[in-house]
Amino acid sequence: MSEANGELGYKEVLEKYPHVPKFVTLKIDAAIRGAILTERAFERARESNAVFEDVVEDQGRLVQRRSIAGAVLRDGTHLCRVSAESEGPRNTLTRGEPYTIDVVDGKLQLVDNGEPVEEVFFATIPEYYGKKTSRGTPMHRVVHAGPPDSLNISVYGFCYFWQQKHPCHYCTRAQQTKGKTEAELEDIVETLDEALREQGKWTAFRLIAGSDPGGSSPYENEANEYVRVLSALRRSFGSKGIPARLVASAIPREQLERLAEAGATTYEPHIEVWDEKLWERICPGKAKYFGRKFWINNAIDAVKVFGRGNVCSQLVGGAELAQPYGFKTIDEAIESDLQGVEFFAQHGVTTSLTILWVQPGSVFYKEKQRPAPLEYYVRLASGMRDIRRKYNLAADFNDYRRCAIHPDTDLSRLDYPEFVN
Ligand code: SF4
Repeated sequence: MSEANGELGYKEVLEKYPHVPKFVTLKIDAAIRGAILTERAFERARESNAVFEDVVEDQGRLVQRRSIAGAVLRDGTHLCRVSAESEGPRNTLTRGEPYTIDVVDGKLQLVDNGEPVEEVFFATIPEYYGKKTSRGTPMHRVVHAGPPDSLNISVYGFCYFWQQKHPCHYCTRAQQTKGKTEAELEDIVETLDEALREQGKWTAFRLIAGSDPGGSSPYENEANEYVRVLSALRRSFGSKGIPARLVASAIPREQLERLAEAGATTYEPHIEVWDEKLWERICPGKAKYFGRKFWINNAIDAVKVFGRGNVCSQLVGGAELAQPYGFKTIDEAIESDLQGVEFFAQHGVTTSLTILWVQPGSVFYKEKQRPAPLEYYVRLASGMRDIRRKYNLAADFNDYRRCAIHPDTDLSRLDYPEFVN
């Protein structure tokens, strides 16, 4: 069904872009609209060990929070933005009416406007959730298991851009914790050791941090924290290289060599928005420390350290359509985005696409921005896949089994047999 504003709905997009597998299109549509479990489906989730309950602090009050481990389609494609009906509507600003997940004729189904669309399966809560480290820290707060079956460590909660009131406009991350203490590093090692006992479960591992441009060279403080954490992780993995996606700021080459020496095997300095003027507006912290050329050159330089295809930039797809200042049409937005993706590809840097989520706390939320239309994401993901094919760039450290919200890498997965690099 088409949206009232003339945008193409799921079925129309499937018909218009038959080269895109329906699971990829459905995943994008569910990501921008959300999917809410009925009470019946929530009970099924409980029975399937897919619900984790925790008490967290929210604006000075202790509240009980329930999280769903995640849901996948028949081919294993992960569904993003799944939440329980009893939690009430999610605060994230969506585009279009949410899907429902319900039990229909005994099967769990993704339902659109009363009509079952696809069968859905729950992921399960990891076994280490609910356990504690030897100093009593709940393990799920040390290493976060994100869908689908990925482990995530926040290396550095602090972001200087937030402190300076220059956050990226889609960002909600305003934590103030600086580097890890020695005890916290021990907690990480213990938790990871416990998680890795669940053999065969994990398909990805990601290290993330806020930006800290300080130090005797740009972003040296941030690099130092990565080196400390990587050094600790080597105890868990027992190998020189840590098989992790490492998402970080534009760290200069000498510091990147330290990271590689400490075990980093990939590196992701995300540009997020390609258009120069929009980038400066949407990512003011990155623009101030130390400008677009610096961030771009850094990604290119990093290929000399990590190798072709092991450096990845990212676009927050839809940010460049923020109104009233962004692109007015999806054609203009996609043209600009693909220019950036091709430029990076020429230098051996791949680029992934994440879907814009507009969440409370972000500048975009205050501005009431929305994700882009489904057709935009399908076209952009297809264009990015074509560029990756043209330059023979793999994205296998970031494929569909490993990241919930990168539809372009879902498509690149189809090309793996062709890659020779
Ligand atoms: S660099 Fe931008 S996206 Fe990352 S934590 Fe800081 S403000 Fe948020």
